Amino acid sequence: MWRVCLIFIALFSSAGLAAAADWTLAKFGGRDHVTLRNVAEFYGLGGVQRVKNEFSLRSAGRQLRGQANSAEFYINNLKFILSYPVTEHDGQLWISRMDLTKLLEPVLRPSRIKHAETVDTVVLDAGHGGHDNGAYSPQGWEKQFTLDVAMRCRALLSQSGINVVMTRSTDTFVPLEERTRIANRHDNALFISIHFNSGGTGTGLETYTLAPRGVPSMMADGPRISDLDPCPGNVRDAENIALATATHAAFVVNSKMYDRGIKRARFVVIRDVTIPGVLVEGGFLSNAYDARLIASPEYRQRMAASIHQAVMTYRRVLAPEVSVASAQSLEQREVARRSQDALRGGASAPGAEPKK
Ligand SMILES: [Zn+2]
Repeated sequence: MWRVCLIFIALFSSAGLAAAADWTLAKFGGRDHVTLRNVAEFYGLGGVQRVKNEFSLRSAGRQLRGQANSAEFYINNLKFILSYPVTEHDGQLWISRMDLTKLLEPVLRPSRIKHAETVDTVVLDAGHGGHDNGAYSPQGWEKQFTLDVAMRCRALLSQSGINVVMTRSTDTFVPLEERTRIANRHDNALFISIHFNSGGTGTGLETYTLAPRGVPSMMADGPRISDLDPCPGNVRDAENIALATATHAAFVVNSKMYDRGIKRARFVVIRDVTIPGVLVEGGFLSNAYDARLIASPEYRQRMAASIHQAVMTYRRVLAPEVSVASAQSLEQREVARRSQDALRGGASAPGAEPKK
């Protein structure tokens, strides 16, 4: 537990940048790539350690690891599904430029996300409702559990002085388009859609955020022409993956459930919100073990606490650098930047310890 909490903190510390290196791009498979060695240099992660197919890049507080020809990628033991696998070419390991700019950079240096807004409002979206029951379990329907988590979360966020908007607070049907309309009425806000999974023998947690333009949805069979169309939510690509990271880390640490990773999709609600948004799947109602957990109020309270914790983490690490912009000289700017980074890195708290 202790180790994982430390990992979570380190994930969001924004120190550790070595001297900026130039990026060397190579195009193959129709896409730009950079070497992992280049990534290691740029982010001060030493070199690339490799044993057979497995690789890792490490610094004091950080570890990036994965496998050649795999899209599964771990940052401080939290699982991300890359848009494209890490590939081997000319004796080197390469990561796509898309994954560098849309995943590694905003996750490793969230304080540098440009134009990130302060957050004073959270829009909680309890999945399904009314005639739309969602997934079934012998203990109850998905729509009941999502609403219960949202209500618990509303109480926690309100206690912290956050303005909470609910897309529904009763057992009513709300169309997906109406949910995004409600969310888009608010500035300085985050959107968190709460769901539970179903299907096969699946188990564990996954967090979805919007696929960047050009990247296939992981829910589709493969690339589609429409992947090239920009979606309204793409204006928040950097904030989206930062919010997904904060949310997924809190869920995985607090629940001890199997980590299925942070994934990309174009679900209507995350596609059309123009505030940073994620969709969380808090376990499988089709799996007897997960379903019993989900039916327990303790587990749902832990989910609510995880969302609350994620919102607080996000606010802390993405606060816009107002004092940096207003600082006069270069030296003043650097001092302001460093102190803000130190504050963000040092003020992290792991939050509630989960019960055994
Ligand atoms: Zn659902």
